[in-house]
Amino acid sequence: MSQSSGKNQHVAVLAFPFGCHPWPLLNLASRLASAAPDVRFSFLNTAKSNQKLFATSGAHLPHNLISYDVADGVPEGHVLTPGNPLEEVELFLEAAPESFRKGMDMAVAESGQRKITCILNDAFLVFGCDMAADMHVKWVPLYVPAPYDLSAHIYSALIHETYAKACGGGEAHDAIPGLSVMRFWDLPQEILQGNHSNSSSIFARTLRRMREVLPRANAVVMNSFQELNSTILTDDLKSKFQDILYVGFLTLIVPTPPLPPSHSDATGCLPWLDEQKPTSVAYISFGTVAAVPPHEFAALAEALEASCVPFLWSLRENFKAFLPNGFLERTRKQGKIVPWAPQAHVLSHKAVGVYVTHCGYNSVFESIVGAVPMICRPILGDNKMNGRMVEDVWEIGVRVEGGVFTKKGMVKSLELVLGHDQHGRRMREKIRDLKELVVKAAGPDGIASKDFKTLLELISQ
Ligand code: UDP
Repeated sequence: MSQSSGKNQHVAVLAFPFGCHPWPLLNLASRLASAAPDVRFSFLNTAKSNQKLFATSGAHLPHNLISYDVADGVPEGHVLTPGNPLEEVELFLEAAPESFRKGMDMAVAESGQRKITCILNDAFLVFGCDMAADMHVKWVPLYVPAPYDLSAHIYSALIHETYAKACGGGEAHDAIPGLSVMRFWDLPQEILQGNHSNSSSIFARTLRRMREVLPRANAVVMNSFQELNSTILTDDLKSKFQDILYVGFLTLIVPTPPLPPSHSDATGCLPWLDEQKPTSVAYISFGTVAAVPPHEFAALAEALEASCVPFLWSLRENFKAFLPNGFLERTRKQGKIVPWAPQAHVLSHKAVGVYVTHCGYNSVFESIVGAVPMICRPILGDNKMNGRMVEDVWEIGVRVEGGVFTKKGMVKSLELVLGHDQHGRRMREKIRDLKELVVKAAGPDGIASKDFKTLLELISQ
């Protein structure tokens, strides 16, 4: 990139403020902003999500990346229905085009009328496509979940049709490039039910529209390393879009650096791990939104107690009520429960020997980079597809017996992964090999480095 190329450029970065989605986007924007100091980046997100993002990430924004709050679409005085997380998503999406338009006007005014030249947004914000066309600017969506998940969305009509013909049978998807390993029941429910075509839910319509608009993007950015995906999958995706750029995993730096002193590990997870024996600890987390039913929380807790395995559990405050009576007191020395952990660093700590996970996409790759094998309890969305890859393709983890936590099944899984029999040893070897592949892919000769430069040029010129 020439020194002067970014001088007039202004990238509007539009976040989907739910689940893990804003983190990878902010990290991508930060990396781009550091590499292109002359380009201005305006990060637009709801106040609630921004607050959480900056409180938990300890992020220090480069000088040319400015964050703005936009409206969340929840009408004043409206009380959200407890237990219906989709309501907030729907209200947000309904209002989002207008909210972001106002946000961009604010960012342009504050920058001294520096016009927006590119929209970089979460791929779920499908209206970014028309917005960019109206404004005559570039459009670059970021797809946060896995490439095979994108493939499932692209082929959702065909999948639904095949599923209906098979009367819900569980065959693999031989007809769909790169998905032959998946079974029907691994796929997100909204795809199997064909919700895409007729649901009145804005979220369902958004997902359907996504596969229509992505081919119009200047480039689709993937939160993945191309080297980790099968050639058949990457070739097929490549054929669908103008360009597809694999910039690596965006929730972590590979290899994981030591935590800078200013980083907040407010809950003291890392010093606690320092006190534990190597590869002895079970780390447990189900990500930012997913939760298992109450009786499974209790079964998991009983299994941890019975197995005497030291544990670090990232558990949201409202779920503590599901733990067995007296569990917290009895396990005070055995384990540590926190509302939030610096997960990528936890998984790269030498004391962690197994990750009990819902198989969120980012979590799985943080575990790979930490070389920590997994016990999988997939819960929603793409979790089952990720779990299939973990157990059957990469062979770096096991799914819990029967698909749900029971005390007996979980004790067995902990013994298997932490133990010294052949299966456990093989999983550890496999995950170390996969980590090597990722470290190489993240190096100067990897595709991510080349694709990041291409992205930088695209948004800077
Ligand atoms: N995370 C974290 N600390 C926690 C729980 C989660 O840092 O205590 C982060 C985790 O590192 C990951 C993200 O939250 O980057 C969760 O994303 P994932 O795709 O795994 O799951 P989702 O939340 O989308 O279900």
